[in-house]
Amino acid sequence: MIDTLGPIIPESDDKPHEECGIVGAYVPGESIARTTFFGLFALQHRGQESAGIATSEGDEIHLKAKMGLVSQVFREETIAGLPGHLGIGHTRYSTMGGSKEYNAQPLIAEGQRGQIAVGHNGNVINAAALRVEMAEEFGSTFEKTSDTEVIAELFAKAPGNDWFEVSSYAMRRLKGAYSLAIMTKDKLIAVRDPLGIRPLCLGSLNGGWVVASETAALDNLGAEFVRELENGETLVIDENGVTSKIWSGARKAHAMCVFEQIYFARPDSILNGELAYETRQRLGAEVYREHPVDADIVVGIPDSSTPHAVGLAAAAKIPYAEAIIRNRYVGRTFIEPDQKARAQGVQTKFNVMRGVVEGKRLLVVDDSIVRSTTITRVINMLRHAGAAEVHVRVASPPIKSTCHFGVDMATLSELIAANMELDEITKYIGADSLAYLSVDGLLRAVRAPKNSYCTGCFTGNYPIPVQLEMNKMGFETITAD
Ligand code: SF4
Repeated sequence: MIDTLGPIIPESDDKPHEECGIVGAYVPGESIARTTFFGLFALQHRGQESAGIATSEGDEIHLKAKMGLVSQVFREETIAGLPGHLGIGHTRYSTMGGSKEYNAQPLIAEGQRGQIAVGHNGNVINAAALRVEMAEEFGSTFEKTSDTEVIAELFAKAPGNDWFEVSSYAMRRLKGAYSLAIMTKDKLIAVRDPLGIRPLCLGSLNGGWVVASETAALDNLGAEFVRELENGETLVIDENGVTSKIWSGARKAHAMCVFEQIYFARPDSILNGELAYETRQRLGAEVYREHPVDADIVVGIPDSSTPHAVGLAAAAKIPYAEAIIRNRYVGRTFIEPDQKARAQGVQTKFNVMRGVVEGKRLLVVDDSIVRSTTITRVINMLRHAGAAEVHVRVASPPIKSTCHFGVDMATLSELIAANMELDEITKYIGADSLAYLSVDGLLRAVRAPKNSYCTGCFTGNYPIPVQLEMNKMGFETITAD
């Protein structure tokens, strides 16, 4: 029997929001807009607010960027209007600057080396200060409200005899997270920040080259994965092939966002040399080793917690069961359920199968808890469906601080682990027991020494000093003033 009682669960209500996805491609003889489209399509999970593609056939940059999903923004006729063998693409979730069409990327900037288009994943924490400095130094004016405009303007106006000198200059001035796909009318440039906070990889395709936030985008294009970019590395790709340089100030060890491993990246992407799916299985196994409990079945909250649950079940030698079914077609909806629908307990996202959980002791696995809305409602649904006990294991540590490097994490006052003790949270979400993975366990599972990942939202220790409680709309305020 299907249980449909319980409260409504809005889409994406209780997960950190991914930042952005970027793609760049230089493939002579190919319609690059089409290639870029399919690369972006594979990165849709990294941003659903806007999508854009810029292309060039060697003479000028053509651009299309709008609010909406990749498949909504681009149609056959749009792709046909973007000629060329060189291009970049971007999917955006606004981490700095409002959700406005004028902030959709790629952004265009103009300088002494001509026009450039820029797609950015990450967050530059000194963007506000740079705006003021660049207005004085270069006479720059800013019309948009995102940190990407600052990056684009800096790369357009920076001194330098070649793109490596320009990139080194920019790296000296930018602070924070930035993986970049940049194009001129005849070159593709890829940049990963000196800490390597956001991922970026290189692939080869039909005699040309592709860069993308994740290897899953390369797979989607049939490209061959070559390697991940190093910290502080710049690639320049043109008719001479790929040339690379690493900025002398780059940190040797990565400070890659550990949340990419836990949740953001697709499970079929390779991060720091390992398949995210396998890393997630180890995270699940590790939290069970730290906090074992007797149960009849292991249940993952689909889809993001499934790999963690599979890994935990194997370590615990407890059967894994698909007890919660996720509506695969849940996306953005502008239709709010009315009071009648609420009263009927209409579920938009999850449904629990009573026959699987009734009378059983459940070990429920979640990859992370932000506000606790989802886990609370899932436990409620499981109890409605007759679960005898609900034990929760979280395959990441408690989130106690906000992110400053490109992830919308909710405010400090909304983070449940920043405001309640473990026993209070257990009671609040209605679990029989609750345990989180330790920070040491997390680092063991991702097979990393302590300083090779950013763990800021768990530990409060960031790879570079940050101002606490940053405002995503900071530039909107400056512009309004
Ligand atoms: S603070 Fe958290 S989400 Fe932000 S970059 Fe660091 S690990 Fe990732």
